[in-house]
Amino acid sequence: MKGSLPLASRVVEVVAENARIHTLVLDRHLEAEPGQFVMAWLPGVDERPFSLARARPVTLTVADVGPFSAEVNRLAAGDRLWVRGPLGRPFTLPGDTEFAAAQALLSPWRAITDPRIDGFGKLPADGRYLLVGNHTTLGLFDVPFLVLDVHERTGVLVRSLGERQHYRVPVWRDLLSRFGTVSGTRENTRRLMQDEQAVLVFPGGVTGFDWLWLGLGLLADISWWSGAAARRRVPGYSGQY
Ligand SMILES: Cc1cc2nc3c(=O)[nH]c(=O)nc-3n(C[C@H](O)[C@H](O)[C@H](O)COP(=O)(O)OP(=O)(O)OC[C@H]3O[C@@H](n4cnc5c(N)ncnc54)[C@H](O)[C@@H]3O)c2cc1C
Repeated sequence: MKGSLPLASRVVEVVAENARIHTLVLDRHLEAEPGQFVMAWLPGVDERPFSLARARPVTLTVADVGPFSAEVNRLAAGDRLWVRGPLGRPFTLPGDTEFAAAQALLSPWRAITDPRIDGFGKLPADGRYLLVGNHTTLGLFDVPFLVLDVHERTGVLVRSLGERQHYRVPVWRDLLSRFGTVSGTRENTRRLMQDEQAVLVFPGGVTGFDWLWLGLGLLADISWWSGAAARRRVPGYSGQY
């Protein structure tokens, strides 16, 4: 069976993302698709699954949460680590049918809020840019239109940085991930920018109060409450990196 034998590898480089998370670059290359993982093995310790941050060369980002990951995060350049894989079903981009379904699902919200998105022509053609929203509380409602419309007009799937709380909600988090959203951690942001992907962020810390502002913002903003057309201008993009 493909990937059933652990392959001996050496750590070439260790990047400390923070005190708890290390990225290890190994001297091995694998043929793998995005979304696949490997089983990392340390003889006499254990074997655990880790996603492939990169396959060529094999790169793992490991959070120290227990005995095995602590041991992996103690490894330094030159140390040995065995990997078995790639394993798991790869991630695929949403197809035309899924984009069409998402547009149809959002059409009532689009009719209510009438968002205007312009400046598509200013987006760098290589898809290497950062879109920055100018507010946070209603970002949840702007993001789907931005992502879908930028994809429709330019073919680029913008990667949104999601507030971590979204990832506590089953089904919802899967839907967000399906359309390219990632948890807005520093490591994820760094990785996306290194991979030269289009990134979307609505800056601003989210606190418990934001859910209150969200409610108030909705009451003030949506047209069926105020009786007036709420034409909200979605902010343009703010730079290329
Ligand atoms: C397909 C797949 C891919 C994975 N990819 C990665 C990856 O890229 N990077 C990574 O760091 N981990 C990843 N994991 C999770 C990793 O395999 C576990 O964290 C692993 O169990 C750690 O082993 P341990 O012996 O260090 O801790 P364990 O003894 O297995 O766990 C110690 C404690 O931490 C808790 N715990 C376990 N995992 C996590 C977690 N991820 N976050 C918070 N608490 C946790 C457990 O419930 C337990 O209480 C992946 C898991 C799967 C199934």
